[in-house]
Amino acid sequence: MYKNFAEVKNAITSGVSVLEIVHYYLQNIEKNKECNIFLEVFSDSILTQAKLVDQKIKNKQAGRLAGLVIAIKDNICYKDHRVSASSKILKNFCSLYTSTALQRLLDEDAIVIGRTNCDEFAMGSSNENSAYGHVKNPLNLNKVPGGSSGGSAAAVIANTCTVSLGSDTGGSVRQPASFTGTFGVKPTYGRVSRFGLIAYASSFDQIGVFANTLEDTALVTEIMSGKDSLDSTCSSKQVEKYSVFEKTEKKKIAVFKEVLHNEHLTEDVKNSFSSLLNNLKNEGHEINEISFPYLDVLVPTYYVLTTAEASSNLSRFDGVHYGYRSKDAVGVEETYKKSRSEGFGIEVKRRIMSGTFVLSHGFYDAYYTKAQQVRRIIKEKTKEIFSNNDFILSPTTPNSAFEINSVKDPIQMYLQDIFTVHANLSGNPAISLPLFKDKDGFPFGLQVVANNFFEKELFSFSNYLVKFRND
Ligand code: GLN
Repeated sequence: MYKNFAEVKNAITSGVSVLEIVHYYLQNIEKNKECNIFLEVFSDSILTQAKLVDQKIKNKQAGRLAGLVIAIKDNICYKDHRVSASSKILKNFCSLYTSTALQRLLDEDAIVIGRTNCDEFAMGSSNENSAYGHVKNPLNLNKVPGGSSGGSAAAVIANTCTVSLGSDTGGSVRQPASFTGTFGVKPTYGRVSRFGLIAYASSFDQIGVFANTLEDTALVTEIMSGKDSLDSTCSSKQVEKYSVFEKTEKKKIAVFKEVLHNEHLTEDVKNSFSSLLNNLKNEGHEINEISFPYLDVLVPTYYVLTTAEASSNLSRFDGVHYGYRSKDAVGVEETYKKSRSEGFGIEVKRRIMSGTFVLSHGFYDAYYTKAQQVRRIIKEKTKEIFSNNDFILSPTTPNSAFEINSVKDPIQMYLQDIFTVHANLSGNPAISLPLFKDKDGFPFGLQVVANNFFEKELFSFSNYLVKFRND
């Protein structure tokens, strides 16, 4: 019923209260319990907030997001509410402050319904790495919702909130958006403040949005974006009106040959993507098939750099500063060792160890320096592509959602991100649009990548592309 903000606003205009809308979402949370989407529902605070917003609406003092109900990924801080990054090591940790991105939404009277399950410390592509159990895809309970923001994607498609927030370091918003048939955007690196987002790989992380409509995706991104004195990597560039879509003229679109002929693509993905390109050609857009010989090095480069950053970022979880502390440890060193061994899950440990290795004396130049050099080349090449093209198109994922427990090899799992990590390495904004369905009716997305800080163009072109949605 309240699948998007337009429906919520209509209901409010016709006299429905925000409190009633919240009850509707709470019921849907109850109905979808089996999917394990929420780690915690903020039942008390959301009812109080809903009443406050109802009062504001009555007094004609309500903000732009009055009635918008958000679910937040469990790595986004919300003052006086728990946040655990789906890890045992942060179990029962309570946020001391609110992340800037979320605060901007709260300032416009959005309210938060709960925190969503995700892969531990946002490391994963299937939501099977949470210390609090798998998330099931609401479209088919045997399948994964994608990861790492799988709970946030599932929350939107199951109608348990109007929109949700996730984080995207290598594809964690776009890939679950693809697997659940939702919209999912990763803004340009530095467009949205990272203050209050639990860090995984700081030079890659961005907070992103999931929604059932492009309008909601654009509006929430617009409100979250912009300069923040609490994050020095956040750009002071003026934020444009992303939610006002412009008419699309003929565009120049780059498509990588290495993507078109990629061995990992399923037939369904290949066919849907090719037929979309044909449609675009027929409509007069210029499709430039270019070679991008770096595709195969994207995932390895991403894993060298992100694990290096993670090994540093996660060193603060040591059983002393905060979080879980091993009960039977004696002395400082044993406290560190036991708390970290018991508190972190297997994938997080694997990444801390890889990251420590690539940064270690003797291997640093061979791995870390090399990967930085490759990143620079990728950034320059991407810039060059955007000097001749408006967008880069690809499928978001090489396949639609897979069965729970079916991908056991970590390398195979890492390859899920083959098309998404590029935008994180280069910093560009990218969106997954729910345009396609496979032969079983399961969704998968189209990824559109734009030039840095061209969010307005990205949303406007996406608005043109949604007419190719195949339902
Ligand atoms: N799936 C990727 C990984 O496991 C991306 C994660 C993310 O974007 N947070 O690292």
